Amino acid sequence: MNSQPNYLREVTNNLSHAKKYLSKNTHIDIACVFCKTINRYFDDEEFFVIGNNNLTCKECNLDSMIPITPHSILYSMSSTYKENQIEEWYNEWFKPLENDGEPEYEDYEYDEYQDSYEETKENPYLSNYHDDEISVPELILPDINKKNN
Ligand SMILES: [Zn+2]
Repeated sequence: MNSQPNYLREVTNNLSHAKKYLSKNTHIDIACVFCKTINRYFDDEEFFVIGNNNLTCKECNLDSMIPITPHSILYSMSSTYKENQIEEWYNEWFKPLENDGEPEYEDYEYDEYQDSYEETKENPYLSNYHDDEISVPELILPDINKKNN
C-alpha cells in the first residue's frame, strides 16, 4: 500500500516551507487531507503547529495538512486534480475500514459456481456414467456396523 508515497513527506516538516512561501507571497493555501478542505492563510500567526515542524489543522487537530508550495505535488495541479489527490490520500490514510465480511462479488462468484455445477450434473453422459456408483455408500454400512459391535 504505497501507491501514494508522497503523503508522509508532504505532511511532515512542512512549517518552514509554508513560512518561507508566505514570506514571498501574499497568501498560502493549505490543504487538510483529513477534512478534505483547502484553506487560505495570509499570516503565519494563523498556523497551528504540533511536534517539531508539522502544520496541524485547527478543525480536526491532525497534522494532515499540506501547504501548497512548490515542495508539494499539489502545487502544479488544477483544482480538480488537487481534490482527487487529496481524496486518494484520505482513502489511503484515513478512510475507516469497511465491514467487508460479505462483499457482493463473493456471492456472485458462489452463484456462478453453483450454476456451472448444475450444468455439469445435467450432462446426460455424466449422469449415466455415475449411475453405477450410487449403491456404494450402502455397501460400506455393514462394515461400519461390525466395527461398532
Ligand atoms: Zn483537518
